[in-house]
Amino acid sequence: MEKNIPYKTYLSENEIPTKWYNLRADMKNKPAPLLNPGTLQPMTAEELSGVFCTELVKQELDNDTKYFDIPEEIQNFYKMYRPSPLVRAYCLEKALDTPAHIYYKFEGNNTSGSHKLNSAIAQAYYAKKQGLKGVTTETGAGQWGTALSMACSYFGLDCKVYMVKVSYEQKPFRREVMRTYGASVTPSPSDTTNVGRKILAEHPGTTGSLGCAISEAVEAATSTEGYRYVLGSVLNQVVLHQSIIGLESKIAFDKIGVKPDVIIGCAGGGSNLGGLIAPFMGEKLRGEADYRIVAVEPASCPSFTRGKFAYDFCDTGMVCPLAKMYTLGSGFIPSPNHAGGLRYHGMSAILSQLYDDKLMEAVSVEQTAVFDAATQFARVEGILPAPESSHAIRVAIDEAMKCKETGEAKNIFFGLTGTGYFDMVAYQKYNDGEMTDYIPTDDDLAVGFAGLPKVDL
Ligand SMILES: *Cc1c(COP(=O)(O)O)cnc(C)c1O
Repeated sequence: MEKNIPYKTYLSENEIPTKWYNLRADMKNKPAPLLNPGTLQPMTAEELSGVFCTELVKQELDNDTKYFDIPEEIQNFYKMYRPSPLVRAYCLEKALDTPAHIYYKFEGNNTSGSHKLNSAIAQAYYAKKQGLKGVTTETGAGQWGTALSMACSYFGLDCKVYMVKVSYEQKPFRREVMRTYGASVTPSPSDTTNVGRKILAEHPGTTGSLGCAISEAVEAATSTEGYRYVLGSVLNQVVLHQSIIGLESKIAFDKIGVKPDVIIGCAGGGSNLGGLIAPFMGEKLRGEADYRIVAVEPASCPSFTRGKFAYDFCDTGMVCPLAKMYTLGSGFIPSPNHAGGLRYHGMSAILSQLYDDKLMEAVSVEQTAVFDAATQFARVEGILPAPESSHAIRVAIDEAMKCKETGEAKNIFFGLTGTGYFDMVAYQKYNDGEMTDYIPTDDDLAVGFAGLPKVDL
């Protein structure tokens, strides 16, 4: 064990970055523009401003500005739970008996339990600054809704969360955290929106879906004076806010004089991974350094590894703009994988372009193997990881085991996006030996692809 590298590398408060880094500025092939679902023409700032806050629309559409100042109010909020530690996983290395050096960045050190708070606070801030009364959103597993309700209560904004009905019923504790922070939580589909009433009439007894909850939240925002819709992943602006993760990591690595060889992150809509890799990918794009970058997704929802790079709807209701991304089709219904945060049919347009340009890799892993890794990690490193985060742990362990064969002392770095305290039903299934793996067949995927819109640009 080297003496000079600490278990945890912390930055001081003054070292927390004061600007977000916009990876798009360094991309030669820019992510494709969002399209208006009605006209299939690129969305203008004006059109987007009906749904999203004006300042966030600017960030969404800006492919050129390299750095955005983080407003002081957001910097102050970040100081409540940042910097997040960069941890050298000495105990895991020892347990694996690997020559590899493993590092992780832990984003679960806040009540919402994940990295989502990094963007929630930014989005709430700009809504408040615009003089809005409140925001609406959807939540599936509940992490985003929790983060947003914390951010809204901080700025005194109203927060309406449409929570997928099955989660609303199965995750009462997440729901109560949101309500404690002052959010109103409605099980979706509900009878409070036209789209909700329509879905209920067509599918009585449905337990809902993320796509349906998005449609309800968008309708609630656009039909209520002083409200806008906010989204916790996928969008360029969210990747921008999440760059705080990678920027802090980069400073910490520079402090200890280490350069990661492999950077690994789980990918649902791509926001934590996009943020984690941002400064490293920037160096790679500018030809200053090289890194292997690996996205990890569930085998049950394999957007990168088996999806198509095409324009698609971001929601099932087909009311949101279209994005060009790796997608399984907006009609794809993933099997009930326990990593709720990774069950999205599409992927960030930024990451999709980078993947298509072969600047990063992707692998898919099965659920039971993910929980094997989660358990192994929890027992030696102390942290009970979120199922989503454990996808990255699985591949980090696999890479470390390869190093054991080759004798290489590679620096492996992964993003540990959150804690698993609200996922104990999934852990229970695993512990009881009742967890199963589901991999969609090519025929299953063909159904989703058949629903892709025809777009000629
Ligand atoms: C939401 C979530 C994810 C996946 O979202 P991305 O946008 O892909 O980062 C991963 N981990 C946790 C803990 C989450 O809550």
